[in-house]
Amino acid sequence: MKKTMLVDLDYVICHPGFLKIVNDFLGTNYVEDDFEEYIIDGVIGSQEKINEFYEYYLLQDGYKDAVLIEGAKEALERLSEYYDIHLCSACVMFGVERRSAKLFKDKFEYLMRELPFLDPEKIIFTNSKNIFKADVQIDDRLPNMLGDVKIKLLFDAYHNRKISDEELKEHNMIRVKNWKEIEDILLKSK
Ligand SMILES: [Mg+2]
Repeated sequence: MKKTMLVDLDYVICHPGFLKIVNDFLGTNYVEDDFEEYIIDGVIGSQEKINEFYEYYLLQDGYKDAVLIEGAKEALERLSEYYDIHLCSACVMFGVERRSAKLFKDKFEYLMRELPFLDPEKIIFTNSKNIFKADVQIDDRLPNMLGDVKIKLLFDAYHNRKISDEELKEHNMIRVKNWKEIEDILLKSK
């Protein structure tokens, strides 16, 4: 029987289009490494301006300018031979929770377009990632990785670099910097 895997989308398989849309809205050139926290809304300005931004954001395809992370697609395809892959991604947006339907749609269409080998019946859209039991989880947010999972791989990202090695150890997590490292770990314990 294949082992079960939960794998996140944003900042693990792709860089989503969010920052590009922020830059388009503000006329700026921010890059992910300019930020240390996951939520970057502060850079937009006042709450009024943030509200204005989300009205703009909701008119865009959040994944039109998403960029696949190097090797992600190929590694997942290879790993799918040994692992039962469940794509697990949060879709409810902070601040506009009840208007998130469009993000569910944009995300699902992106997955079907870019990762056609994924089973659409094994796609989980939830912000409650800690309720699952799995053999492996790959995610970039530590608070999403507190469930009953044997191998927890934290994908290195702009907002998680402050997490110390001690803290990772405490949570039984391994930081991975790319998909080559993930494959090396997971093919050994398949
Ligand atoms: Mg993510």
